[in-house]
Amino acid sequence: GQITKESLHYVQMLGFGNGGKVYRAIHKPSSQVMAVKEIELDISVAIQKQIISELEILYKCNSRMIISFFGAFFFDNKISICTEFMDGGSLDQYMPVDERALGQISLCVIEGMLYMWNLKVLHRDIKPYNILVNSAGQVKLCDFGVSTQLEKSIATTFLGTNVYMAPERLQGYDYGTPAEVWSYGVTLFELATGKLPFASLNMTDPNVQLQPFHVMKVILEEPHMKLPAEQFSQSLIDFVHRCLHKMPALRLSGQDLLFSTPGRTVIQSSLKSYSSSTNHTNVLPSNSYSLHSGHLGFNSFQI
Ligand code: ATP
Ligand code: MG
Repeated sequence: GQITKESLHYVQMLGFGNGGKVYRAIHKPSSQVMAVKEIELDISVAIQKQIISELEILYKCNSRMIISFFGAFFFDNKISICTEFMDGGSLDQYMPVDERALGQISLCVIEGMLYMWNLKVLHRDIKPYNILVNSAGQVKLCDFGVSTQLEKSIATTFLGTNVYMAPERLQGYDYGTPAEVWSYGVTLFELATGKLPFASLNMTDPNVQLQPFHVMKVILEEPHMKLPAEQFSQSLIDFVHRCLHKMPALRLSGQDLLFSTPGRTVIQSSLKSYSSSTNHTNVLPSNSYSLHSGHLGFNSFQI
């Protein structure tokens, strides 16, 4: 069914990013809780229609590692994208994440990425802010760049550079799954340490914004840092290192990701208890999650 502006009851603003604001809302006809992302776009009705139709591929994404899509509509000069609400918010709030939890998270993120790659869709914006968790212990990816037209319309308003982007993408070359692997490597490093893998990107005063060309120079030229050996396992250190090769062809491939991801052998895990006034019981239904061979249960995962 179509979602309209009038059918939504806005409850709270959850956060905002470059493009827009995200609200928690209730879809009144269905009582469904949703996360509604509003992005201001000054574009023609024809372009609006194209965006709505491009987003429709999201209806077909049925993976437990991908946020569910409920629909999208334009109202005034804003698009509203309605998706599943995740009560734990995004992973940036939990950094640094303990290595065991990182293993569980990593399995989910990789499964989500591989699922979308199979549908020939790249995420295009992998970062801790786009990995969401909930109190049922689930980890899901959001904000897939499925609509080229939406990406283009946003890019004209905001500078399309960020610290998670692969060297080839920053340089304007064609990019594909290896660029996702890079962003994922940056994300894992940041989740593990709370810092970016490039020393020069961490040293700046938070009030001073690095110029995009400076960010690009650092990412292209500076060797990335390795995770500290005193704190992390050699397999995690190697995994992140192999995601962050400057040359796309030398990075881990999709299959490598699955087989060498941290978490393959981890059984127990816990995430930092998250500071929320709501009372989360930390109890998961047994067998709520298992991957492939089924040897890895998610039932000990807690937030
Ligand atoms: P950018 O705009 O560069 O993508 P971002 O991902 O931080 O950055 P938004 O996508 O606008 O920005 O999201 C803002 C914040 O809203 C997120 O960081 C997250 O904490 C929260 N959020 C987004 N989607 C959901 C959701 N489905 N459920 C719960 N919280 C969400
Ligand atoms: Mg986002």
